[in-house]
Amino acid sequence: MATFEDVKGVVDDYYPLYINGQWVHGGDGERLTVTCPANGEVVTTAAVATKEDVDAAIMAAWQAWPKWRQVSQQERYTILLKIYERINAKLQHFAMVEALNCGKTVSGAVWEMLFAADQFPYFASVLRTHEDGISRPYHNVRSLVVREPVGVVGAITPWNAPFIMAAWKLAPALAAGNCVVLKPSSFTPASSMELIKEIADLLPPGVVNVVNGKGSTVGQWVLDHPGITKLSFTGSTEVGRTVGHAAAEKIIPATLELGGKSAGIYFGDIPEEKFGDAVACGVQNILMLAGQGCSLQSRILVEDTLYDRYVEALAGVFRGFKVGMPWEEDAQMGAIAYKSHMESILGYIDSGIEQGARLVCGGHRITDPPFDKGLFIEPTIFADVDSKMRIAQEEIFGPVVVVIKFHGEEEAVQIANDSVYGLGGGVFSGDLAKAIRVAEAVRTGTVTINGALSNPAGGAFGGFKESGIGRENYKTTLDHFSQLKTIHFPL
Ligand code: NAD
Repeated sequence: MATFEDVKGVVDDYYPLYINGQWVHGGDGERLTVTCPANGEVVTTAAVATKEDVDAAIMAAWQAWPKWRQVSQQERYTILLKIYERINAKLQHFAMVEALNCGKTVSGAVWEMLFAADQFPYFASVLRTHEDGISRPYHNVRSLVVREPVGVVGAITPWNAPFIMAAWKLAPALAAGNCVVLKPSSFTPASSMELIKEIADLLPPGVVNVVNGKGSTVGQWVLDHPGITKLSFTGSTEVGRTVGHAAAEKIIPATLELGGKSAGIYFGDIPEEKFGDAVACGVQNILMLAGQGCSLQSRILVEDTLYDRYVEALAGVFRGFKVGMPWEEDAQMGAIAYKSHMESILGYIDSGIEQGARLVCGGHRITDPPFDKGLFIEPTIFADVDSKMRIAQEEIFGPVVVVIKFHGEEEAVQIANDSVYGLGGGVFSGDLAKAIRVAEAVRTGTVTINGALSNPAGGAFGGFKESGIGRENYKTTLDHFSQLKTIHFPL
């Protein structure tokens, strides 16, 4: 069984900033401290950028841009493939870094690393087939419609999946010929820094820069800086509004990948032989990442004819779910990323009880050794939940699922859509036509039919409603990172 001692060496003691191809220490010596959420031990520190560092990063990006935008498609394609090879060769290493950084299990993080690596060959291919156009508006005019990079992208990422989110932004931004200033979450900077360490020598100085620090300072400086010509943000809906305002103020494009409260809908017609899969799906779609995933299905809607049986079966799996240290091979669920977030989850559990939902299992912080030094919460189910309760409306972002009863297809869709969010969702049914009807009727960016959630490259990912604007992970993502220019050519 792996131990903390086995994994703690995967991160450096300290990460400087990365600006203009140099590792620099940051203006005033301030540092972020990353503690392992599973045992409270300090695992690394990172330099905090000053406003001057942010200026320097953006200036370096602009200095690099004229050459970088001229790099041929073929050459950029080759660079992206090399980045893929570097990540792919060290999947386990990056997964261990992410486990220390965020508290998630190494085994779960490996999947994220695979998907992160795959962004680079995916967007390498998209870029090679992203052809410009020519139109003939009059017999003596040709109009060349060409795509240009937007310039310097401010990429801001959340704490829950920092490595893959960095990959989701870097791959399309670089493919489209942009330079990037990346601002990872101040809670979890380590994996982004390990990524940059690995790929830095493949890119000219200034093409990618990383500035660490708090959102309210370093993040806000990135938003407001006149040198940023595109914002690519993943995080909460609340901060997403601030990003949207900043973009509107400067009249620049912004893609916003925001919060979610996704619903998995389970119909009573699930064939008997598929019932076990349907339960496994309900478990997987919330407990992976200990519920700290934007598109996890934190609402389970079950038809009245199946409700009691489904809740009982779900509870059976939740009770036996193996919570463990992230580095233990048999751990199915790890820790909560940081203390105030754990307290917020526990607050939601209290509110569910106060509002009259039935606590079926879980509901507590785990404090028995060896969990006492870490941030762990029991897998938790609330049943008999009304869709208007806070636990059914607000994003809890923890291992807590609410199970809501419905009667018939129409009510299922109505409850699923009773949310300000519209990110993901699922349908489980023995009737494929019904499943497709429901998938089309729910107002969300992705829906999975009869299966567990997965977001491989090539599936457009993004939100309806307050879950965001724009799509990542898909060929049209390059459109968000470029703009069209028409060159009219009278013959
Ligand atoms: P957050 O909004 O608090 O922070 C996200 C990033 O924004 C961090 O880097 C933070 O430092 C920065 N930030 C905060 N205030 C800022 C400001 N004023 N100006 C500029 N930057 C600022 O989100 P979080 O708590 O890190 O992440 C969890 C949230 O992210 C959840 O709501 C989750 O659903 C969402 N999320 C969405 C997706 C998606 O693809 N839709 C993916 C992962 C996470």
